[in-house]
Amino acid sequence: MQNNMKAGIIGYPLGHTLSPTIHNSAFNELGYNIDFQIWETEEKLLKDKIQSLRNENVLGCCITLPYKKKVMQYLDNIDNSAKEIDAINWIINKNGTLSGYNTDWLGFINSLDFYKKSIKNKSALIIGAGGSAKAICQGLIKGKVKSIIISNRTLQKAEEIKELFANNQTDIKIMDFKELNNLTTLKEIDLIINATSLGMTGGPDPKKSPIDTSLLNTRALCYDLVYSPQITPFLRDAKNNKIDTIGGLSMLVFQAASGFELLTNKKAPINTMLDSVGIKL
Ligand code: NDP
Repeated sequence: MQNNMKAGIIGYPLGHTLSPTIHNSAFNELGYNIDFQIWETEEKLLKDKIQSLRNENVLGCCITLPYKKKVMQYLDNIDNSAKEIDAINWIINKNGTLSGYNTDWLGFINSLDFYKKSIKNKSALIIGAGGSAKAICQGLIKGKVKSIIISNRTLQKAEEIKELFANNQTDIKIMDFKELNNLTTLKEIDLIINATSLGMTGGPDPKKSPIDTSLLNTRALCYDLVYSPQITPFLRDAKNNKIDTIGGLSMLVFQAASGFELLTNKKAPINTMLDSVGIKL
């Protein structure tokens, strides 16, 4: 690895991001002199910013809201699973050629493995149908779940995700967000994933849980993609109802670990990365 290389994160607004902490912990562990920078970029400057990633000192970058789809048009290659999800969260620069990857779905699956949760043949409910819900749907399909229900405020977006994955064997149904708490089969669902921004600090409704967790089976697993705060209203209510939970921080670290491996071609020091944000088993 050359000295004085750069990597970073592109999004807008970025505010406080954990990405530098997670990546710098890994770079330090492996003795790499890579500077991980925060590249907050307004949309009108996005094309030029992506172009600048072709520089020989840039290894690549992580892409976050609201650009995971928008940047795809500026890249030379898109990895197949990113094509399926129709969104990328990493760009890698190899000799001036930019390739796009999606590691969000892998982050989700690897975090479930980390907590020793099997999803094979289980039934899943995804609440939300934004960018992250597509990656979750991909992860669930690759993890061989039995069935998926997608519920979203804007039903059309749930229909679009169902359509996106129509070629897979997995049974996918959609349902209206307003009807969620009336779903008679809620107790039969094994895995409930909040992929909305409800409960997120600074989001549309930081105090709200997307579902009444008292209606769920106590053997279910509640997974919140939101990682700020670490204990969201959804997770707090689930815990109060004696239901197992996983917060979004582990997925954030595992997607970063896969990104690190794309950047460096080296195995990510996952324990160090988890430790950098305070996660221990
Ligand atoms: P998007 O903006 O693409 O989607 C937001 C989703 O939230 C949509 O389904 C939207 O519904 C729903 N929503 C927003 N406001 C409300 C509301 N008031 N009531 C009901 N539903 C609402 O965001 P992302 O999918 O990219 O991210 C969602 C969350 O996941 C964020 O908090 C993000 O930080 C987190 N995330 C975490 C990751 C991790 O690694 N842990 C990775 C990626 C995301 P509608 O379609 O109707 O607008």
